[in-house]
Amino acid sequence: MKRKKNNLRRKKPNLERQYKTVIAHAWQNENILRRFQKMELSLMQCESFALVTHVLLHESPKRFELDQVALVLLDPRYEIRRLLLASEIDYQKFFPNLFFQCSALKISQLFDAVQLPKLGPYHAGLHAEYFRAPLHSQSDVILSVAALPLIQEQGLLGCLLFGDTHTDRFTSDSATDFLQHLGAVISICIDMALLRDRLKYNSLNDALTGINNRRFFEQRLPEEISRCKRMQTPLSCLFVDVDHFKYFNDTYGHATGDLILKQVAGIIRKELRATDVVGRYGGEEFAVLLPNTDHRRALDVAERIRKCIERHHCKYEEYLLQVTVSIGIADFHKLADDSKTLEEIGQALVVAADKALYKAKQAGRNCIAVNSAYRTGSTV
Ligand code: GH3
Ligand code: MG
Ligand code: MG
Repeated sequence: MKRKKNNLRRKKPNLERQYKTVIAHAWQNENILRRFQKMELSLMQCESFALVTHVLLHESPKRFELDQVALVLLDPRYEIRRLLLASEIDYQKFFPNLFFQCSALKISQLFDAVQLPKLGPYHAGLHAEYFRAPLHSQSDVILSVAALPLIQEQGLLGCLLFGDTHTDRFTSDSATDFLQHLGAVISICIDMALLRDRLKYNSLNDALTGINNRRFFEQRLPEEISRCKRMQTPLSCLFVDVDHFKYFNDTYGHATGDLILKQVAGIIRKELRATDVVGRYGGEEFAVLLPNTDHRRALDVAERIRKCIERHHCKYEEYLLQVTVSIGIADFHKLADDSKTLEEIGQALVVAADKALYKAKQAGRNCIAVNSAYRTGSTV
C-alpha cells in the first residue's frame, strides 16, 4: 500500500508535465487554426485574381511569419497574364513572387505524386528560381520549404511555396492536414477569381478583334469627360469606319472580312497611346477617345491611322487587298456645357463624331472630317 502511494507520488509530476504539454499543443493548434481561418476568410472575400494574389503573396508572409512565399501557376496559353494586363496590373512589378509555367510536369516536380503538400529541405534545383537569393546575410537563406499543390476539378492550377530560413520549420514528418485544407481553399478561390475576371474581360472585350467593346467605351466615356472637366483639358473622339466593307465580305467571304477587322483594329490600337481608349463600336466601326487632345492634334492622329491602314494591304490568297477607312472627329471643348450631365456630354460627343464621319463618307471616303469642317486625304 505504502509502496503504491510512493509510486503515485513519483508519477504525479510526470502526469502533470504531460498534461501541460497536451494543453500547450492544443493552444498552439487552436492558434494555428485561427490564423488559417482568418487567411481563408480574406481569400474568400477577394473579388479578383489580383486580390487573391495580393493576399497570398503580400499578406500571408506576415500572417504565418514566413520568410518568403511564391505562387507558381500553370498558364500555357498566357491567359492569366493577359487577364492581369487587361485589368491594367503590372504583375511583374506588383507581384515579383508570382511565376508562370507552361508545363504541368515542371510544377508537379515541386510536390509528391500523391498531390499532398510536400514539406522538407530547400533544393536549389527545384526551388531556386522561385525564391530570391539572400540579400544581406546567410540568415536570409531559405532552408525549408512547404509546397502546396493547387488542384481543381479541371486539373493542376499550380503550387504555392512557403519558404523559411529555419531548417525545422517544414520537415517531412510534420502534420500536413492544415496545409492540405488551406491548399484546397486557395485552389477554389483562385479558380473562382479567374472565372470572375474572365467574365468581366469577356463582357468588356470584343472576341474577334481582342480590343475593348462598345460597353467598355461607353463606361469610360463619362469617366474621361469628368477627368477632362476637372483638369480643364480637351478630349477628342474619333469614329473610324471601314469603307465599302460589305464589298470585301461579299467578294472574298466573311472570314476575309473578319481578318480585315482584326488587322484594322490592330493598326488603330498600335497608333494610339496607352491612355487612349478604343472600342469596337459596331460591325466595322471603331470609336476612339483621345484624352488631353484637341481636334487639331486629333486630326494628326486620325491622319496617321488613315494612312497606315491605306498602306497596309490585307492578304487574301494571292491578292493584296487595299482597305481604307473614313474618320469623323469631334472634341469636347466645343460641347462643354455645365447644364449637361457627363452622360449627356458623352452622348453629344459621340453624335458629333458620327455626324463628322457621315460627312467624310459623303466627301468620297478614305478621308477625315472634323465636326462641321472636313479635310480630304487621298481618294479610294
Ligand atoms: P460604307 O463605306 O458606307 O461604310 O459601306 P460599308 O459597306 O462599309 O457599310 P455597310 O453598313 O453597308 O456594311 C457593313 C457590313 O459589315 C455589313 C455587315 O454584314 C458587316 N459586318 C458586321 N459585323 C461583321 C463581322 O463581325 N464580321 C464580318 N465579316 N462582317 C461584319
Ligand atoms: Mg463601312
Ligand atoms: Mg458602318
